[in-house]
Amino acid sequence: MDVIVVGSGIVGASTAYHLCKKGIATLLVETNHTGQATQAGTGVIHPWPFPRDTPADWDFKLAAATHLPHLMNELDQDGHPPGYEITGSLSVQTQGSRSAFELMDSLSRREGFETMGHVHRLGPGQARELFPLLNEHDQGVHIEGGARLDGALARHALLEAAQERGLHLRAGQAHLLWENQRVSGVQVGDEHLRAPVTVVAAGAWSAQLLSPTGVQLPLFPVRGQMAHFTLPGQQTRTWPGVRFGDHDFHALAFAPNHVATSGTRRPEAGFTHQATVTELSQLLDTALQTMPGLGQACLSRTRVGFRPATHDGHQLLGPLQDAPGVLIATGLDSQGLTLGPFQGKVAAQLALGEPTGLDLAPLRPDRPTQAP
Ligand SMILES: Cc1cc2nc3c(=O)[nH]c(=O)nc-3n(C[C@H](O)[C@H](O)[C@H](O)COP(=O)(O)OP(=O)(O)OC[C@H]3O[C@@H](n4cnc5c(N)ncnc54)[C@H](O)[C@@H]3O)c2cc1C
Repeated sequence: MDVIVVGSGIVGASTAYHLCKKGIATLLVETNHTGQATQAGTGVIHPWPFPRDTPADWDFKLAAATHLPHLMNELDQDGHPPGYEITGSLSVQTQGSRSAFELMDSLSRREGFETMGHVHRLGPGQARELFPLLNEHDQGVHIEGGARLDGALARHALLEAAQERGLHLRAGQAHLLWENQRVSGVQVGDEHLRAPVTVVAAGAWSAQLLSPTGVQLPLFPVRGQMAHFTLPGQQTRTWPGVRFGDHDFHALAFAPNHVATSGTRRPEAGFTHQATVTELSQLLDTALQTMPGLGQACLSRTRVGFRPATHDGHQLLGPLQDAPGVLIATGLDSQGLTLGPFQGKVAAQLALGEPTGLDLAPLRPDRPTQAP
């Protein structure tokens, strides 16, 4: 093998796809932990940077915003529909917000933000016309280029397309092989599988994998529970994604008649995957408060996932000085469905020693950070 990838969430699947597209012999190892974030993610896609972002994040997000639609189109054309749709997105505030509009509007006019499309201010009643579950008095901002992504479908599309290009899949839990002060591959069961480069894209579990090397990644799981609702008799396909600024809460519609919520955040839960009744009750309370029209909907399913979060809020991407042979690609927290496909592409470029055109030094996984 030329490259081993550990983890087949959206990041590992994208890494494998981009490697296989170049004809690189690639092995992907997956152990199917309960709580894979990609299967649980809602799918709100807002890739564009904000002025508070660091220069490294700014460049990374802008490049991701351009890459995502291309990749999705490529998969679609290749016969692997990834569940991506540009539906527009709404940012809703009960009082309306001139500054939110002015910020989005000015960003949309900047170079590199072309995929954001037009930005409109919506007065009372107009927001509800686009997303009928809202309060009558809700106001907000509409961003034309906002999109939704079905994480499970996108992952499946990437894996299928990679398998068609020769990807080898291995089920089982990978442990890094630490030999002669470098990572030489992975052990799965009794098998030793070696490659010059191993990419750790194991989401919130990535820190555990590194233990044989002695490197401690500044990474921790943030449990999230999300809920799906069915709305009999409604056609939700064209509804935009919604961000509720007052609640830090998102909702997303899926065809033909589903709405999903963005979920809770429980960093204190560690890897405990059973969510509590209190957590579900808080989730439903916020959903009803923000979308009173949900009252007659049916709760169709709930899901739990572990977001890979970092102490300083920035992703972990690149090699480790003290552990040659390994690359880390994780730490995207709540934005992994949005930025993960591009993170996978960059990880593939790094694995091949190709230039990425980005300054990745600030994202190095062994940068000094402090636990909060
Ligand atoms: C409730 C919720 C809502 C979200 N909503 C959004 C959203 O609206 N928009 C957005 O952009 N993002 C969202 N996210 C975030 C997004 O889902 C994650 O950031 C992203 O899916 C992380 O992908 P990943 O590939 O890094 O990790 P994961 O998807 O968790 O994949 C990691 C994989 O590695 C495997 N693995 C781990 N250890 C090993 C091992 N030793 N050997 C083999 N395999 C291993 C695991 O089984 C797992 O399959 C949400 C997340 C949650 C939980």
